Amino acid sequence: MFNRLYVHIPFCVKKCHYCAFISHNPEKGERAEYPALLLREMLLHAPAARPLDSIYFGGGTPSLLHPLQIARLLEKFAVYFGLSADAEITLEVNPGTMSRNSIKEFRDAGITRISLGIQSFDDAFLARLGRIHTTEQSRQAFHDAREAGFANISIDLIHSLPGQSLDQWRAELRHAIQLSPEHVSIYGLTIEEGTPFARSYPANSPELADDDLSADMFELADELLTSAGFEHYEIANYARSGYLSQHNSGYWKRDGYLGLGVAAHSFLRDGYGVRFSNPDNLEEYRRGVTSGRLTRVGACQLMQAEAMSEFMFLGLRLAEGVDLRAFEREFGRVFESVYGTIAADLVRFGFLIQNGRVLTLTSRGILLSNQVFEKFLP
Ligand code: SF4
Repeated sequence: MFNRLYVHIPFCVKKCHYCAFISHNPEKGERAEYPALLLREMLLHAPAARPLDSIYFGGGTPSLLHPLQIARLLEKFAVYFGLSADAEITLEVNPGTMSRNSIKEFRDAGITRISLGIQSFDDAFLARLGRIHTTEQSRQAFHDAREAGFANISIDLIHSLPGQSLDQWRAELRHAIQLSPEHVSIYGLTIEEGTPFARSYPANSPELADDDLSADMFELADELLTSAGFEHYEIANYARSGYLSQHNSGYWKRDGYLGLGVAAHSFLRDGYGVRFSNPDNLEEYRRGVTSGRLTRVGACQLMQAEAMSEFMFLGLRLAEGVDLRAFEREFGRVFESVYGTIAADLVRFGFLIQNGRVLTLTSRGILLSNQVFEKFLP
């Protein structure tokens, strides 16, 4: 069972220096063929039991598809899966791949929400990251999206960039606030193995932010964005009231989602949940889909202990926290009989706070969230 759809578009104009995602050069004719593969894959899945509440085109660079390709996909998804009248339909957009016209056409195609991969408002950092756009293009893309009628725009920013100072990060945040988006996602840079960044910045590189500076940047984002009226609703996400990402909130609440496309992940709400992904090799994906066969990589039927663990560490990411009554309804177990000691210790050491039957992370717990989540692993 699923009520959300993720569609992976694996093409990028050029690989960013920090990125470990699998992406393909779009010049090989594959981009024209890819939507047809997605539709063939769609037909291999059973239709959803209920209409979709959200669709998310992620990548890669989904804005490399032509708006007419997106329109056709949405039309087919709506017929096959059904689509709620107020469904949130997000397109990730790289500011270097869109024009005033194309953004209008994406809106006409049915996209309701834009997620702009801005990452930085500093051209020197953008060049160092290997991004294909400038700050001016990002600003223009934002204004063009507004002018095209998008009332729900999210922007992504990365902090702890090599050599970045706290003052430079403050300037980034001010720039973001000044644009006045509805949603901001904030990520700390992670150095991924096998990327050019991993070679340029080994673990002991003096240019990398240490834990204290990263924590200061995280706290500064919280201070400036919440003062500007954003709600800090998830560890890395801020939104104006009424503009929380419906699709991503579904991930944290363990809604079922189907992933279409190369390397797309799925989580179906069958039993305690089934997780699997598609092959991350385009050729293997194409072979499977064209021969009418779904190749599920790493398929895993969750046991109760795994599902309870996920319920905790995904739910705790949200500012609304984990409702222990919902836990008990879902699993038929008294919360304290499963995690009573762990939760009590985390409350005692200041990582969690319990308010009635709701558990939430404290500010300290947010900063050290990975260590908190580990305690709930089966
Ligand atoms: S555009 Fe996104 S997916 Fe593509 S290489 Fe850059 S960071 Fe990776």
